Parts: sequence; C-alpha cells; structure tokens
Amino acid sequence: MKVPAFCRSSLRFGFTILAFAVCAIATQAADKIVVLKAARLFDGKSKTLAQNGVVIVQGNKIVDAGSNLPAPPDAQVIDLGDATLSPGFMDGHTHLTLDFSGNYNDRRLKEVDLNVSEQAIIATTHARATVEAGFTTVRDLGSRFVGSKEFVDVALRNSINKGVIVGPRMLVATYGIGATGGHFDPTSGFRDMLFGHEPDFSQGIADGPDAIRKAVRFEVKNGADVIKAAVSGGVLSLADEVDTPQLTPAEMAALVDESHRLRKKVAVHCHGDQAAKEAIEAGVDSIEHGSFMKPETLTLMKNKGTYLTPTLMATEWIMSKIDNYPPALQAKAKAAAAARSDMFRNAVKMGVKVSFGTDAAVFPHGQNAKEFKLMVDLGMQPMDALRAATGNAADLFGIAQKTGTLEKGKFADVIAMPGDPTADITATERVSFVMKEGKIIRNGPPSAPPVAVSADAEPEIPAD
Ligand SMILES: [Zn+2]
Repeated sequence: MKVPAFCRSSLRFGFTILAFAVCAIATQAADKIVVLKAARLFDGKSKTLAQNGVVIVQGNKIVDAGSNLPAPPDAQVIDLGDATLSPGFMDGHTHLTLDFSGNYNDRRLKEVDLNVSEQAIIATTHARATVEAGFTTVRDLGSRFVGSKEFVDVALRNSINKGVIVGPRMLVATYGIGATGGHFDPTSGFRDMLFGHEPDFSQGIADGPDAIRKAVRFEVKNGADVIKAAVSGGVLSLADEVDTPQLTPAEMAALVDESHRLRKKVAVHCHGDQAAKEAIEAGVDSIEHGSFMKPETLTLMKNKGTYLTPTLMATEWIMSKIDNYPPALQAKAKAAAAARSDMFRNAVKMGVKVSFGTDAAVFPHGQNAKEFKLMVDLGMQPMDALRAATGNAADLFGIAQKTGTLEKGKFADVIAMPGDPTADITATERVSFVMKEGKIIRNGPPSAPPVAVSADAEPEIPAD
C-alpha cells in the first residue's frame, strides 16, 4: 500500500510518541520493587534451606535475598506462604524442537511428513511447558530434521529472547556432531541415498579432525552456544551399537580444541566406557548419559572435574513404554538401563560433579522435574539434587555469574514449590510460581494446554 508523504511523517511522529511511551513504561517497570516471600528459601549453593525466605527483585535483577529481610516501602509483596523459593531450575539436556515420546516408527514417519515450519510452531508449546514447570534455563543439546537444513533451536532461542514467545533461556547446540553412520547420522537406518546425498558438516556429520573443526566452526557461525557431539553409540538410533566408540581420540581432541578456542563448552553424548574415558581425557566439559562408565572412568572424571549429566528420565521413560520401540532398540535400552543405576550410585558416592539433565523430548516436555526423584532414589541427597539443577548447572553452562543462585545482581529467575523439597523431593514436580528475569510467567496453575498439542489431532470442522 502506498502511503502519502504527509501521512508518512505523521506516522513517523506517532511512532516516536509511542516509542517514548513504551520507554516510559519500561523505565517504570524497571523501578518497581517486588518482594517474594515464602516459609523457606534455597539459594542454589548452600547445604541447608533458609527459613522465612525473602527475595527482593527490581527490574530483571535480584537486589537482595535471604532470611527475614524487610520489604522496602512501596514494594509489591507477593507472599507465597508454606512454600520454598529457589533459583529457577536448569536442565542441562533438552531437545525443545523435538518430540520422541510416542511410538518410534510413527514418530519417524511424522518427522519426514510434517514440514519443518510446522514442527517449529509445535516446538513453541514445548518451550512454554518447560518454563511453566519451573525450568528457566535449558541447554538444548541438538536439533535436526532429517533431509532438511534448519536452525530451529536458534530461532526458538532468539524468539524467546525477543519476547515473541514464552520459554526458558536457551543455550543451543544446533546439530549434534557425529560420525558417518553414528548415533547422530540422520540418514542411518533409512535406505542408502534415500535423501539424495550423504549428510556432511552442514548437518553435523564429520569424519576426521579437520572435518570436525569445520563442523564446529559452521555451528558457531550459525548461532551455537555450546557444542554437542556423539562419541559413542546411542539407544534411539538404528544402525549402531549403544556402547561402541564413534570418534577417534584425534577427532575428540580436535572437537575440544576448536570448541574451547571459540569459548564454547563441549557436551558429549556417551554411553560406552571406552569412549567416555577417551572423551574425558580429551577434555570435554560434560558426559551426557554415561550409562556404562566403570568406577575407574568415574575416578578420571572426578580428577578432571568433568560433569556428568545423568538423564535418568530418558531410560525411565523408554523402559516404561518399551513396546513403543523396535526390538533392536529395546535390547539397547535394556542394556543401558541395567547399567546406569550402578553407574549413577557410584558417581554420587565418589563425588563426581553432577549437572541435572533429562533428555526431554524422549519423554513429553514439561515433566523434567521427575528427574529429581530418580536422582534421590539412587542415593543423591535432596539438597545435592537441587544444587545440581541450579548452582552446579550454571557452573557447567558457563553462566554462573548471571544466574543459578539467589544472590544480589543475578537475574531474577525465581520459582516456588509447595512445602519442603528436602522432606519430599517430588515438591519439585509441583512448582506453582515462576519468575524469569523479573517477569512473572506463572503464579498458580499452568496455562491451559493448547487445544491440540498432538500433530495427530485432526482440527475440528465446524458443523456449518
Ligand atoms: Zn539427547
């Protein structure tokens, strides 16, 4: 539409007024002080809960946090009663753009059936469910759609940061990097050349140290915050064994060196013991899953300060729905599930650093907090499990100076759960209040789920 010149100038004037008004509102909001009170407070790093918890928030930051702090005059006080205030939870291993939770073969067909734009729109509901469950930050470890080259995780992160959609702060990995035919090869298990070409660095598939460096550079160029790679086989892939190594030590060295030069942390998918040992020696920042790791490998981790992200929920979900998976995957899942409980018990006993992480997408998004009970059932103290999802996770993510604890100057990422989570860890599954960067996302029940969250659901056709 053509707009006459005089209209354009008055439009411009109108926008200027509007911009001033918006700025004025923003300044006012930044000045407003909100005081959150609850019976208890977990600060993200201490060994005990504080009583009569208070968090004072101004704009997007915490001004003060502790016990029995007086509310400044004119502050808005939100008293959450018999609850525990906590830093927003952090999940070190999600896939917000994906949903693997249904029947494996149906899901595989759906993935090539739906266009990527539609899958991206569906992902916005995953982001909302995750933040409403109390997870204000996630490390999103891999997003890919077979046969297509898209950066949906980058788009999701950016849209959340711009306030276009509601979701957690995301650190994204773009494509998981892996070997030809390995766990991350999107064409594994399909007929040869079905998609017309072999995947390459532009979909994270790389063989040899130089190709790995190129893949890392390509991902950082396109918006990756963290680098993810598969160094051993996996459960939900058809053409590999679950515990065999998939990168050589030279490839791992290149992966870590190139990522660290670009100031990106390295998270590696790894079930197998040999691959874990080689990856830890190469200097990766976290081992994801770690199912078959032996005590000697855990000792190496402890000495190197490598984090473990246990993702107990993933095996738990797969084992509870085992008929949803083809026989070859059932066998791999059973082997991993049988090994991972001992591995995790040993890791806890030995004091290996643990970051909370679930592999959300393997199970429906928003159920992340069920991981806490699994960790506690396998011998972790409730306070340690809470720290794994707050202060420790922030340390692993490299954002401890910004969030992860309730301290002056940190982002006001604050949640509340009923009662005392150290007496009943499942309180973490009933988060009732969520604030992210000073904005209240939820105070009370979660928002109603969308009418149809399943891509299978047929839209209702009006009778008329
Ligand atoms: Zn994963």
